[in-house]
Amino acid sequence: MSRDRTNNKEAGAGVKRRRSSQKDNKDKEFGKDTVDKVAKKMSSKRHESLNESKKIKEISSMKDEDTESQGKRKENRRSKKEKAVKKEENQEKEDEQGEPQKKKKKRGSDKTTVESKVITKENVKGSGSKGKGKQKVDVNEVTNGDAKDKTLDEGKLDMNKESPKKKKKTGDEPVPRPTEYEHLGAGPSPVPSTGCKYMGCHVSGAGGVWNAFENAEECQATSFALFLRNQRQWMAKPLDEATIKKWTDASQGFSPHLILPHGSYLMNLGSPVAETLEKSRSMLIEELQRCERLGIPHFNFHPGSTVGKIKREECCKLIAESINLAHNETKGVICVLENMSCQGFTIGGDLHELRLIIQHVMDKSRVGVCIDTCHAHAAGYDLSKEDGFQELLDDFGKIIGWQFLRGIHMNDSKGKVGDHQDRHENIGHGTIGIEGFRRIMNCEHFNDLPLILETPWTDNKGYAKEIKKLQGLINK
Ligand SMILES: [Zn+2]
Ligand SMILES: [Zn+2]
Repeated sequence: MSRDRTNNKEAGAGVKRRRSSQKDNKDKEFGKDTVDKVAKKMSSKRHESLNESKKIKEISSMKDEDTESQGKRKENRRSKKEKAVKKEENQEKEDEQGEPQKKKKKRGSDKTTVESKVITKENVKGSGSKGKGKQKVDVNEVTNGDAKDKTLDEGKLDMNKESPKKKKKTGDEPVPRPTEYEHLGAGPSPVPSTGCKYMGCHVSGAGGVWNAFENAEECQATSFALFLRNQRQWMAKPLDEATIKKWTDASQGFSPHLILPHGSYLMNLGSPVAETLEKSRSMLIEELQRCERLGIPHFNFHPGSTVGKIKREECCKLIAESINLAHNETKGVICVLENMSCQGFTIGGDLHELRLIIQHVMDKSRVGVCIDTCHAHAAGYDLSKEDGFQELLDDFGKIIGWQFLRGIHMNDSKGKVGDHQDRHENIGHGTIGIEGFRRIMNCEHFNDLPLILETPWTDNKGYAKEIKKLQGLINK
């Protein structure tokens, strides 16, 4: 689409109109939790994420407040409660991340190594080996099912939570740094060059993936992301011919490279647990096949997590091997790795980890990177400031190479710079701020690519406004 456009501003106007009164209200994937839902989740999920447990605490303490009498006693109790919650949260964080918050440094690249015990590799020998010995419950499976509500706080289903209880400190050292940054190769074939910014958002494909086009249109999006299947379940119905036909009909006029599907949060392509690794690899193949059949050239996913059981370097190699295996089973689709926030044991907050994965991918024309602004900020690049933004650009060019960039996730951040928390915020309401996004919107490196909002969703109109706001930041 819009190959004939000549400037950034116009890129927002060109989606084919497909107005319909059908609104998919049941599909509020990114809606807000009600107290009831949260309470239900509380009883049904044993391994809730940090974000959710925090929310529950906030809500339950709000409830308490309502019933308590006014006055000083209430104040005292509340502040006591807040202190207790804070203490508990800090404890949780320490447990999950295997290191106290205080010891964190800005980015993976200069992370303090808190090494006390070298990891035991009882069930982790070589890539793809069958796991032996004790296997922990895969929390990813536990979190399946009900959860319709999603705020695109990507940390919610974080793979860190695979062993949420007591965790021994592991040798969680950064991957090795090269002495010289050799060029990683030509990368995937370039996207059509127009000089435009293609603002879009993550849309719903509920009721049928083809509905994504209508949702994108309502959001005034000129690019979009979607899940090609239920992202909370390992199993999915295969694509049938009717679906492919409807998708093809709906997609007329939309450049396929501006559609960047997002993979399931269940997938851990670097999992040290053989069963999870196997399921993740099958899932990747299946997702790439979906893309192939729908004519989508890209597939974006979170690289993976060591879950604190293997070295980061080893995990990166497992991820690359997973991609190689999937490449062998499919044709043409590019695997797009997302940078992460350095939360816990996730891979991809340190750009050197992405570099290492790319280095080990055999077919470099089928691997790319998507930069998530919230993740980069949380990982330590201060995108609210010129210097921090420039540092990200310099590092990306040096460590990875611009030829690999295939998309941007446009998210403000609830958390502070370098806090490693993956918590998305609406544009201009977070710690990156509007000036940060002005720089992003005027950066030439981000031309011609899908720029996808993954901020808290209220309705499509809200996303349309946010897209307009971002387009308004482009210098005339
Ligand atoms: Zn993501
Ligand atoms: Zn993202």
